[in-house]
Amino acid sequence: MKRTNYSIILKMIRDYGPISRAEVANKTGLTAASITNISQELIEKGFVVEIGSGQSSGGRPPILLKIRSNAKYIIGLAIRPGLLDVMISDLDLNILVVEREKVNHIDYERVFQQLESMLNKALDEVQLKQSEYIGIGVAMHGIVDPTKGISLFAPYYHWRNREIKSKLQDKFNLPVFVENDVNCMAIGEKWFGALKGRQVNSSITINIENGVGAGIILKNTIYQGANFIAGELGHVVINPEGETCNCGKKGCLETYISFDGIIRYVKNNLIHQPASILQKKYSVSGELTIDLIIESVLAGDELCLAALKRVGKYLGISLSHLIVTINPMVIVLEGKLNQVKDILFPEIKKSINETLLKDLNVDCELLSSQLGEYSSAKGAITLVLKKFFNSKNLLTFINSGSVAV
Ligand SMILES: [Zn+2]
Repeated sequence: MKRTNYSIILKMIRDYGPISRAEVANKTGLTAASITNISQELIEKGFVVEIGSGQSSGGRPPILLKIRSNAKYIIGLAIRPGLLDVMISDLDLNILVVEREKVNHIDYERVFQQLESMLNKALDEVQLKQSEYIGIGVAMHGIVDPTKGISLFAPYYHWRNREIKSKLQDKFNLPVFVENDVNCMAIGEKWFGALKGRQVNSSITINIENGVGAGIILKNTIYQGANFIAGELGHVVINPEGETCNCGKKGCLETYISFDGIIRYVKNNLIHQPASILQKKYSVSGELTIDLIIESVLAGDELCLAALKRVGKYLGISLSHLIVTINPMVIVLEGKLNQVKDILFPEIKKSINETLLKDLNVDCELLSSQLGEYSSAKGAITLVLKKFFNSKNLLTFINSGSVAV
């Protein structure tokens, strides 16, 4: 019982801190005596600190408890299409170091050599003791089996059934947790981003880059599906008469809304708009990128606006299917397209309204990511924190500092 109470109290302090002992007792239903004993032990172990004082309802204001942010540290890694991120943060996601490199190769061994060298550099930089780390979280592109810590299929790297967890665990001697990158973002948004502090237990997090994916949270838990493919929206056909996708099928969602799809649409139609805002920018930079298209949308370029409205339309259709399947409270959009959300969001909503029956179209809120550029690595860190704070073995871990959470 004491073990479980440890976890309950520490999690309560994390979720609601700064919080008074009386409030912890209130919310957990545990006795004041066990709150006092356990919180004292957590303070002595350095996991909890007492701060200032809270609102008094008469008499002496209560002392508040909060997690000591720098009690432990977490490593977050992201293996993304073409990019590797390494991040080290404390328990409150205060970042000590963050590194990003383009991948030099898609070969499994060489990618890991690069990642390990980045991580070693980051570890050297922060100079923490091994015992100060809780573990390593990995946000992995593609289809992931989190229970085995394996990449089942990573399209960008052409990997199938590759070890991720054991590869890092052996080298760095820390617990390693692996999860799909968009699922990591979804957890990150819940703990530190757009959904922080909100009573949201079901959400869909959509990530649009060169691929398209969704992280689904149901009843506060990531929904992975029977074969870990839940949320793999990108190559679902939404128009059988559409363009040929790089997967070989016609009219996949990605052909419309991925960055490559947007760029291709703009390029194909640029010929009809010889004197446009985009054309001028394009002739200067010489390269048609998603950043250039976003800049042009903001400057009012008609073709780029049309491309963005097209994204809104097809994303709205795809989201409608998810809305009637899952009925989420909130949808969160990740990535660069948030820069043009004032134009994109109304288009998505319009498309959802046109696709769904009016009675089914309950008001599902659309939000922008609040995690910023390193959302996958931040999500990977949150993955470890979630395991840590939900661990039944928290007391063992706190006492030994080395037990897998
Ligand atoms: Zn496809």
